[in-house]
Amino acid sequence: MCLTIPAKVIDVAVDTVTIEDGDGVKVVETPFVTGLAVGDWVLHINRLVIRKISPDDACEIIELLESGTPVDTSLVSPAFREDIEALHRGTFGRDNIVRLLSSEGVEQEALLREADTTRRAWIKDFICIHGIIEFSNQCTHDCLYCGLRNEHSAIERYRMTPDEIVETAREAVEEKGYKLLVLQSGEDPTYTDSMLIDIIRRIKSASKVFIFISVGERGYESYRSLKEAGASGVLFRFESSSKGLFKKVHPHGKCLESRFEHLKFFKELGYYVATGSLVGLPGQTLEDIADDILVTKRWANMVSTGPFIPTPGTPLAGSSTADGDLYLKVTAILRLAMHSARIPVVTAYETLTGEEGRSRALKSGANSLMINLTPERYRTLYSIYPDKFYDTESIFVRYGLYKYRESFTMLEERMREEISL
Ligand code: SAH
Repeated sequence: MCLTIPAKVIDVAVDTVTIEDGDGVKVVETPFVTGLAVGDWVLHINRLVIRKISPDDACEIIELLESGTPVDTSLVSPAFREDIEALHRGTFGRDNIVRLLSSEGVEQEALLREADTTRRAWIKDFICIHGIIEFSNQCTHDCLYCGLRNEHSAIERYRMTPDEIVETAREAVEEKGYKLLVLQSGEDPTYTDSMLIDIIRRIKSASKVFIFISVGERGYESYRSLKEAGASGVLFRFESSSKGLFKKVHPHGKCLESRFEHLKFFKELGYYVATGSLVGLPGQTLEDIADDILVTKRWANMVSTGPFIPTPGTPLAGSSTADGDLYLKVTAILRLAMHSARIPVVTAYETLTGEEGRSRALKSGANSLMINLTPERYRTLYSIYPDKFYDTESIFVRYGLYKYRESFTMLEERMREEISL
């Protein structure tokens, strides 16, 4: 579930090897791997070698995770430097963020590099890989931007059965090694609380996995019982903290007060909270985005902020696509504002930019990926926005998923720490 920076074996003993990576030299145990020789490349976590990898793949991972060339800081203005420092100190406000969001050229690059360095310093070289199962595209809401909106009659609707959801989750954990799964749907009351409780219980009793739910506004009682059933986290965006803009894109259905009420009781219930906003909605200002960053910092253990992509057949079909660089700057600022938070590269950004953009986002402060695990026959129907990015083959998926229990324990410890911060 986490891709770590590869290390080179420099000495071999009976049950241990000495390895060297960017962090230095250490001795690690080898219960899962035999026959290692000096010069081999390995991946390791918690002082255990998890697997051997080829020198070519090791180089590819190192290149993907390694920082770019540092920016010559003599080229940035004193005001820019002061804004960056204010973020690090935690003494920043809207104005600092707006100025950083407006940065261009060398300063924009310096902002992204600073976020990369911060990610390294606070959470090292772990790229965490989570999975998402989109189990229903039915939705009673009518968010103007979303392809699943109720009034969008052109799309074919589907609902996965509880058995299908449980089996997809089992396969993801037992056969692929996922340790954290998000179960997402539109606002679909057909799945009653007792159905969702049953699904969560069945997955949890079959596999060692964290379940995050992303099912919209269901009220306190519902979320209390889902937590009790074994859900650990929620993925629930407030979308936009600007009252005016929120109302404009949600003329009916979603309500900002209710979004915040939910975030409040998620915390009370002890959920790990993934939240954030949409970047690049029509009419959104840099001040709106700055406010969204401040609100995200207030609520999120894990960030879920993504760029807006216009969807054909929706009222915002003719609007402009979010600026990818602006999303990167938002990601970098979030990293500087929330040093140790989990920040995924969202699928919407991968849809805009592909693999290259993914790597760029990982070097701009992001530290995790959300891989789509929706069964193939439903995947294209979950068309929140068009041509959604999909990946099963990348080096992250190949080497980032471990079936070993240690990987679950490590995630458990980290999440406990993150939630208590
Ligand atoms: N029903 C759940 C899940 C919503 S879908 C809930 O309400 O929380 C997940 C996310 O997709 C939404 O929160 C929204 O931010 C995002 N989304 C919807 N349409 C989009 C679009 N056109 N471009 C980018 N992201 C979009």
